[in-house]
Amino acid sequence: MIDVVVIGGGPAGMSTALVVGRGKKNVVLIDENKPRNAVTKESHAFLTRDNIEPAVFKEKGRRDLLRYPTISIKDGRVLTIEKNEQELFELTTENREVFQAKNVVITTGLKETLPAVSGIENYYGTSLFSCPFCDGWEMKDKPLILIAESAQALHVTKLLKNWTDDLIVTTNGNSVFDANQKKALELNHIRLIEEEITELKGNNGELQSVTFKSGEEVERSGGFCTTTLDNKLPFIEQLGIEVNEAGYIIADMMGHTNIKGIYAAGEITGPSQLIVSASQGHMTGIGIIADSCEEAFQNT
Ligand SMILES: Cc1cc2nc3c(=O)[nH]c(=O)nc-3n(C[C@H](O)[C@H](O)[C@H](O)COP(=O)(O)OP(=O)(O)OC[C@H]3O[C@@H](n4cnc5c(N)ncnc54)[C@H](O)[C@@H]3O)c2cc1C
Repeated sequence: MIDVVVIGGGPAGMSTALVVGRGKKNVVLIDENKPRNAVTKESHAFLTRDNIEPAVFKEKGRRDLLRYPTISIKDGRVLTIEKNEQELFELTTENREVFQAKNVVITTGLKETLPAVSGIENYYGTSLFSCPFCDGWEMKDKPLILIAESAQALHVTKLLKNWTDDLIVTTNGNSVFDANQKKALELNHIRLIEEEITELKGNNGELQSVTFKSGEEVERSGGFCTTTLDNKLPFIEQLGIEVNEAGYIIADMMGHTNIKGIYAAGEITGPSQLIVSASQGHMTGIGIIADSCEEAFQNT
């Protein structure tokens, strides 16, 4: 019997596995290895790991884990989780491997949907990004575009103004800003283009210009876009795990969900950054060990 199965091997999952394995519990980490930051060349703002390639970050993390005989890593995707007669969680992967565990940690991250612009995936992660705290410094003081199709538009606009004074905002043909918000953009010298984008031009992932339906082409060196983030995993609903209105799992600081033995950490509990996910994973590891010690201790 396995003490803990961790589903997902990003910073959240690897941190949980490290703490649990160091707590002398057997832990199996199952990872399909498709993190959403795989499109980018460098990750930023993780202290001691600034500018690291995502694949190198993962490789270093896995190396840390494999120093411990209590931790093993399996490649694969978990498809189902069911509770069996022994009150253990039974997990099945798409390769039909079955694991029985006392506790399960969900650290599966999120998947993102980019704005509906033809060819946008050629630039996303190289010169078009979604998080200014991750990539704002690299894009600072450049002529930038914000492709904002959602209600986050004004918030992201305000943030981006911190990194550049040369910002054009486009809604790609959608109606996103109300009259007051448009006035605020004008006051802040930010041009708004509400037309549909017809073409993104550039080289090797480096954006050079954006063309609109009217035929107007604006030169831009890169930019940001709003994205939709979710990860609809059938077992979340099947197990009755509580999610918030955005669809993210509700977990406390120690990773507890509403289901005993099921923990969650990292972006599946809400969008964040590498260091935040790692720290949530660490706290969840502490939570699991503390719960297990509490259960094992003979109280009078
Ligand atoms: C373009 C881009 C640039 C970014 N740049 C930065 C940056 O510079 N700095 C920063 O701090 N953050 C950055 N981020 C955000 C960062 O990638 C995330 O915050 C972080 O990866 C979240 O960690 P996580 O462990 O929660 O999830 P992830 O890292 O996404 O890991 C989840 C893992 O679980 C696996 N998985 C999912 N479902 C299953 C399943 N059913 N079975 C098994 N495995 C499964 C996935 O394949 C994946 O390997 C960036 C994101 C993007 C998109």
